[in-house]
Amino acid sequence: PVRVRFAPSPTGNLHVGGARTALFNYLFARSNGGKFVLRIEDTDLERSTKQSEEALLQDLTWLGLDWDEGPGVGGDYGPYRQSERNSLYKNYAHKLLDSGHVYRCFCTTEELEKMKEIAKLRQLPPVYSGKWASATEEEVQEELSKGTPFTYRFRVPKEGSLKINDLIRGEVSWNLDTLGDFVIMRSNGQPVYNFCVTVDDASMAISHVIRAEEHLPNTLRQALIYKALGFPMPSFAHVSLILAPDRSKLSKRHGATSVGQFKEMGYLPQAMVNYLALLGWGDGTENEFFAIEHLVQKFTIDRVNKSGAIFDSVKLRWMNGQHLRSLPSEDLTKLIGERWKNAGIIKESEGPFVNEAVQLLKDGIDLITDADKVLSNLLAYPLQDSLSSSEGRAVVEDKLTEVSASLLSAYDSGDLILALEEGPSGWQKWVKSFGKSLKRKGKSLFMPLRVLLTGKLHGPDIGSSIVLLYKAGKLDVVAEPGF
Ligand code: GLU
Repeated sequence: PVRVRFAPSPTGNLHVGGARTALFNYLFARSNGGKFVLRIEDTDLERSTKQSEEALLQDLTWLGLDWDEGPGVGGDYGPYRQSERNSLYKNYAHKLLDSGHVYRCFCTTEELEKMKEIAKLRQLPPVYSGKWASATEEEVQEELSKGTPFTYRFRVPKEGSLKINDLIRGEVSWNLDTLGDFVIMRSNGQPVYNFCVTVDDASMAISHVIRAEEHLPNTLRQALIYKALGFPMPSFAHVSLILAPDRSKLSKRHGATSVGQFKEMGYLPQAMVNYLALLGWGDGTENEFFAIEHLVQKFTIDRVNKSGAIFDSVKLRWMNGQHLRSLPSEDLTKLIGERWKNAGIIKESEGPFVNEAVQLLKDGIDLITDADKVLSNLLAYPLQDSLSSSEGRAVVEDKLTEVSASLLSAYDSGDLILALEEGPSGWQKWVKSFGKSLKRKGKSLFMPLRVLLTGKLHGPDIGSSIVLLYKAGKLDVVAEPGF
């Protein structure tokens, strides 16, 4: 049976790279009828925090990547935090000691430093000399009786190579001669990361390890431990890096990179999931718009690309707009209406005005936070700052006077109001005949109308803006655009 895991270290926020790894694991599990396990890798007690763990769980939940086993859910293979699995690591370390795959190393820090220096002088890689690899039982007993601290070192074959068949990268192989015997348990009894991961993946019956490419060097060590413990090796799939547009490694200096930041900025989880899936995967067609259910149907690991994927925040924003507009209209209205109410832009979160406003504004926005800005700008009337700019002055001097007089009379006579009662179509009819009577169209008609009716030079679609201002009871003619 397929069992995969996402194994974050709770030492910071969930960033887009981690979220994509989680997503690929989730999709692989769901598309194969398997299990998606969440394991918290908190062996680094100094850097791991409870807040970070909670935030990780929240971000995954927000993305809709629900796990079948793990913190908060339980499962048959728990506990699911490494900090709670110490006795297991100890047992397996002792097993490896008994079978001779591991030996006690009593080297002091100074001795190890010296080894490194000598290797450096000889221009060799800093590999453990093997000093305690062939110690006799008496030598070991003597150190033990003196109480000398020791680590557990893994006995690496001194020659030959090891290869795996990576599901994304194909055959990957390593020469063993430069690896050196590595520590699996420190002298204070703390198991080392690679050892924990192997014991966990094996004892949690993980069938496929899907993780970031940067873990490849760990895979070599882990594969050796698998063999030594006699566990069947899982399949491995190493996913390429996410790169910035300049092809450097994506980092904070490129802008928002954590899932939490995108959530704050008004992104929808379904857009994030869709975009993340496209970072290194595609269904082989031109189609890029996928709901998570489609992704589950279409996802296969052999379509995951082995070259780095570029994170394009402009495309993500565009994609969010696509998802926003494809929401059922009641859902979108509710989502945006509540934001407007909470932000104090409107009093009621429901009703005909909200419906109309959302329908009229939605084509011009990509993020729900944009909707806040658009409506509050529109309703903050009149906004004379923009009018006193030189651009504003030019519009006014050139075209305003004539339009202003006719507009005032249309307003006073009630013609404009009657038209606006009918909504956008009424406005269309009215503005057409108004333009005709003045022999104006295009910019020379709409620019002064926008200025006179909204108090601004720029904004969303003019018809929508004016209908909305009218419906909000805020329409007036700026007869004297105050400067
Ligand atoms: N805890 C590791 C990390 O956060 C993941 C280890 C793994 O997937 O094997 O990078």
